[in-house]
Amino acid sequence: MINKLKEVSASEIFSFINAGATLSDVAKKYDVSSIAIHKKIKYFYERPKKKAIKFLERESFNISDNISFLLKKNRIKKEETNLPASIPAIFEKKGTKNIILINKNIEEDNYVFILAHILGHVVLKHHHVLEDGRHTEKISFFEKNQVENKYFSEEIQANIFALNLVIPEKILKSKIKSSSFLEISEIKDLSTYFKVPETVLMRRLHGMNYSM
Ligand SMILES: [Zn+2]
Repeated sequence: MINKLKEVSASEIFSFINAGATLSDVAKKYDVSSIAIHKKIKYFYERPKKKAIKFLERESFNISDNISFLLKKNRIKKEETNLPASIPAIFEKKGTKNIILINKNIEEDNYVFILAHILGHVVLKHHHVLEDGRHTEKISFFEKNQVENKYFSEEIQANIFALNLVIPEKILKSKIKSSSFLEISEIKDLSTYFKVPETVLMRRLHGMNYSM
């Protein structure tokens, strides 16, 4: 059977859903079953997660070492430089050289996450990042208004990879004392431990059905 959805981008599907279409509306559009659409979406969310988990199964969890390892493996150099405040980082590809330009004024707790996010694009082989040769990250890459960005679904995937790499579910669970509700002080401690901003940590906890 021909996979009719193979050439369809997740962004395109999400744009219909965001405009109010149901799964079966979308299915009709592509002349496939709702299950096929559901599978496509499930795969979209699971692929970056699996990539991060697979990597962590090979390496022990030390985020600085893991980031350095992935940078080296993908022949990426990083360089701190002056960038406008709204741009935390830029990924550039010049021939065989890859470089991440990091805003030297970036807050320390955003540093690890933005690197992991860009590594997500590389590990997931996002074409627009690797082929355009230049990818500028925006400070608002977590926000809903990114839906207007043609490649917002790739940004979501890079974030899923980064969240799973930087805050592995297993380790987070082992660090949480409470059963479902977390105190502010605990969130603060966890964000220090994982070297991520509290907002990123809270997003992760929310995704794991914890309340704060
Ligand atoms: Zn990005």
